[in-house]
Order: sequence, then structure tokens, then C-alpha cells
Amino acid sequence: MQFTDFGLDSRLMSTVEHLGFLEPTEIQQQAIPAAMAGHDLIASSKTGSGKTLAFIIPAMQRLIRNRALSKRDPRVLILMPTRELAKQVFTQLRLFTTGSQFKAVLILGGENFNDQVKTLHKDPHFIVATPGRLSDHLSQGHFYLKGLELLILDEADRMLDLGFSKQLKQINSAADHRKRQTLMFSATLDHAQVNEFALALLKKPKRIAIGSAH
Ligand code: ADP
Ligand code: MG
Repeated sequence: MQFTDFGLDSRLMSTVEHLGFLEPTEIQQQAIPAAMAGHDLIASSKTGSGKTLAFIIPAMQRLIRNRALSKRDPRVLILMPTRELAKQVFTQLRLFTTGSQFKAVLILGGENFNDQVKTLHKDPHFIVATPGRLSDHLSQGHFYLKGLELLILDEADRMLDLGFSKQLKQINSAADHRKRQTLMFSATLDHAQVNEFALALLKKPKRIAIGSAH
């Protein structure tokens, strides 16, 4: 299988080619078409298996192909457990958004709050964030999630282990509408709280487990 088999928008396909990627990894082969078909996903595969592009590619495709639900609200929200991981994902995302019509911002704990308020007021299409700080901005009304199309929870097991369940529930409720799609990634699906969250947040999810007995 090759990236050309997904039927990606040509601008998106040329970015993938620019990055030098030809063959999708196993998780990408399964997650990209399922996400593009509109399914919610709960997916696991080991570190280094290419999960980031497994959600960035369908997210970009959706933004290019679908009309926005809202002019102002973010269309895609990517939540990561730590600042370091959020920065890494943001760097990969920027390879796709740079030179496109889509604006991506990074909202991390420990950085200047008021600068972030200004950033959020510029109506970005993508937000990559850690849950604690994003939740503070949401509580204070610095942005809204009514128009959110895609919620991505990466390393969901770690986010829950770090105690972010309250923030994740708040963010989920703020973006609770029929047209929202949710993609959840976890190192393991053998995690009680991950499964509890999957039940609460996902609609008829497809389960994808690479390299495990499930
Ligand atoms: P994970 O999130 O599963 O730990 P990453 O998304 O961080 O993995 O990807 C790990 C590395 O693999 C990155 O350096 C990324 O650029 C590279 N990579 C991702 N997809 C492919 C691919 N289809 N072909 C080759 N390398 C890839
Ligand atoms: Mg990852």
C-alpha cells in the first residue's frame, strides 16, 4: 500500500511526498481510511510507529474537503499529555499547514497567559495543546468549541495517568455536538480509564490495535 491509495487531496499528497514518505506504516494504513470515512477511533500501536501522521493526514484532508462549521471556532483540537510531546506534534503539523490557508497554534502550560489569549483571538483552525492550560482558557471564555469538527486525544493513557480527566471531560462537553469526530490514541487499550473514556466520548468507535493480542 502507498499514500497515493488514500485518495488524498493533491496539496496534501505533495506534502507527504516532500517529506519523503512513500509507504504508510501499519497504524497509518488502518487509521487514515477509517478516519477519512468519518469513524471515531480508539487506536493503539507502539512508540515510533507513526501515530502522528495517522491523525494529521485525515485532519488536513477533512479541513480541505469539508466546509467549516464555524468561521471562528477551531476546527481541529489535538491534546497531548506533555509540553514536549505537544511541541513535537506541532512541528509535524506545521510541515502541513505552512503555506496553506490553515493556521495552527500551540497552547502550553508554563507560558505567558495573555499572549495565548491574543493567539486564540486570531481564530486558528488547529490548536495543539496540553489539557490544563487549554481548560483554563476555555473556562474564561477565550475561545469556544461549538464548531469543533475533530477532537484528537493522543497518548490518552498518559493524559489520564497525569490526572487530566476533569479537563478532558470539560473540553469534551464544550465540543459536544452531532458532527464532531473523535480520534483517541493510546499506547495500550488495556487501561480501564481509557476504556471508560472511550465509552463516554466516542460514537461507535472502530478499534485498531497494532501489534497486540486485541
Ligand atoms: P508515534 O507517535 O507512534 O510514537 P511518530 O508519529 O512520532 O510515532 O513517528 C515516528 C517517526 O516515524 C517520525 O520520525 C516520523 O517522521 C516517522 N514516520 C512517520 N510515518 C512514516 C512513514 N509512513 N514512513 C516513514 N517514516 C515515517
Ligand atoms: Mg506519538
